[in-house]
Amino acid sequence: MNLPPIPGTGGCGVASPVRINGVKLSSGAKLKLTPDAVLNCDMAAEVADFLDGEVARIEASGAGKIVEVQNAGSYECRGTNRVVGAKLSEHALGNAIDLRAFKFADGHSITIGADRTPTWVGVKGAACARFKTVLGPGSDVEHKDHLHLDMRMRKSTTICQWVLD
Ligand SMILES: [Zn+2]
Repeated sequence: MNLPPIPGTGGCGVASPVRINGVKLSSGAKLKLTPDAVLNCDMAAEVADFLDGEVARIEASGAGKIVEVQNAGSYECRGTNRVVGAKLSEHALGNAIDLRAFKFADGHSITIGADRTPTWVGVKGAACARFKTVLGPGSDVEHKDHLHLDMRMRKSTTICQWVLD
């Protein structure tokens, strides 16, 4: 759903925000995103395409059918890592999402930072191939329980930090 522009103070805000409560998958199924995420239009398209690909890959691996992804944060006017006065977070531009868990049709979930599963190895590879910044558990204490993805523009570097063991 398209939203009116979000005016912001101090550099926050989104010119073309959208609110998404799920992703229509290539398989025809609907993947729920809970709670809704507010993102800029381009980031929403990246997230939808990423989740479509990952759900297909995970389901093809035999891990089960995924019905829902838990969102732990999207648009929010704040500094990096919630530090007041810090450089503006990509969340403040609608350019970032934090993912927490994937829920399967049989009711079980796999949670980032809590569950060890080979599924995360593939998710990390796909995330780091697509997004400019990938910060998960092991990167720093702020990301111990979720996966931060953003499309922050940098000259050439990308950040791919998620310790899986
Ligand atoms: Zn984040």
